[in-house]
Amino acid sequence: MIAGRVAIVGGGINGLAIARQLLANHPNLSVTVFEKEAEVALHQSSHNSGVVHAGLYYEPGSLKARFCARGRELLREYCIDRGLPYDECGKLVVALTEDELPRLEAIFARARANGVPGIRLIGADEIREIEPHCRGLRALHSPQTAIVSYRRVAEEFAREIAAAGGEIRLGVTVARLIESADGVVLEGADGPLPDARFDQVVACAGLQSDRLASRSGQTAEPRIVPFFGQYYVVDSAFRGHVRGLIYPVPDPKFPFLGVHFTKRIDGEMTIGPNAFISLGRENYSGRDVSIRDVRDFLLYPAFWRFASRNIPATLRELRTVISANAFVRDAAKYVPSLRNVPVSPAVRGIRAQAMTADGKLVDDFVIQRRGRVTHLRNAPSPGATSSMAIAEHIAREILDVGGATFLQRGEAA
Ligand SMILES: Cc1cc2nc3c(=O)[nH]c(=O)nc-3n(C[C@H](O)[C@H](O)[C@H](O)COP(=O)(O)OP(=O)(O)OC[C@H]3O[C@@H](n4cnc5c(N)ncnc54)[C@H](O)[C@@H]3O)c2cc1C
Repeated sequence: MIAGRVAIVGGGINGLAIARQLLANHPNLSVTVFEKEAEVALHQSSHNSGVVHAGLYYEPGSLKARFCARGRELLREYCIDRGLPYDECGKLVVALTEDELPRLEAIFARARANGVPGIRLIGADEIREIEPHCRGLRALHSPQTAIVSYRRVAEEFAREIAAAGGEIRLGVTVARLIESADGVVLEGADGPLPDARFDQVVACAGLQSDRLASRSGQTAEPRIVPFFGQYYVVDSAFRGHVRGLIYPVPDPKFPFLGVHFTKRIDGEMTIGPNAFISLGRENYSGRDVSIRDVRDFLLYPAFWRFASRNIPATLRELRTVISANAFVRDAAKYVPSLRNVPVSPAVRGIRAQAMTADGKLVDDFVIQRRGRVTHLRNAPSPGATSSMAIAEHIAREILDVGGATFLQRGEAA
């Protein structure tokens, strides 16, 4: 039996999944989640596509490949068990032209290497059987790709944490973590927070993760560079034109999956998200500018290295930022009946995307552990799909194995 005090910084889906898992593994642990907002899951965890990825794209053996596959299984069971909506609507990755076929086949090979269930390469006739309004040369069909509301999942995690005796302190910003021989103290802007000495801390601060890590004595790299993704909601009269999820073949140089048609768990259909640099890490309206956030990426030489290597992709994305019509027209190449569909803008999402000093976007999840503190430093998509597997990993491999010496071992109950 392990007892002791563990703090989680960040009440997004990852922080909450970890707190829940720790309490499930060790009912005698005292677990406290610190969240700066007045509610849980207000950032990436409620501004995303809501897709439960099946693991098509990821480098076999990578954390993304492993955690996505395991996370999907755990999440499916969890939603069924807790009565949360989970719709296995399936997904098509569609090639429109001959030159996209080798890339589509490469994704198929990866998906097979990752053991993705039920995937098949299909031709134009079968595309129309699955999605009658979609056109394409060939497609990859993933029947078990699903949709959920990650916000609802995160809120359910929070309810479970409270029921298991954990505490969620809302409206508390953690400025830094100070580690000493006998614990870690959480500090706010004015010094130590009340009753905030812990044996172990896990930081899952999403868009602020690099700042919290570097202020707490960890390396400055990788840094977070925020990329927003705009969505448009399709007029409800046209929802039936897409039954599930329709994706393009992604640009291999870009870690984002491309603008896709997404059926939402509430029945709406959206088109998006594009990917463009955000003028604020938490600027969801797109109208405000955060001088600090803009200065951070403008003064980061790596950002300019990245930008100079990605000029065509930047111009392509910029078109869709400037014009909603261009955005819809690009997407309608896959579903021509939606070419002139009325759309309304939905709230954008902002990706906490880590970038290395040489200007590369970090593809895999990054979990850094030093002493009593573990930082989740890169958890982009499929981070929500993977959250329960990331939690399993951090609770078991890091706290049980590496961190046990920092927690009290008591008599077996
Ligand atoms: C546009 C977009 C589309 C996506 N689509 C998908 C998808 O379809 N499927 C999928 O699996 N994944 C998707 N993702 C990725 C997924 O949303 C994220 O991987 C996941 O939500 C990350 O969760 P998190 O808990 O790590 O971060 P967050 O949800 O960002 O939570 C971090 C929390 O930490 C808090 N915090 C930060 N700093 C502090 C501090 N100093 N003190 C206290 N609290 C702090 C924040 O307020 C926030 O609540 C998408 C992401 C985006 C942006």
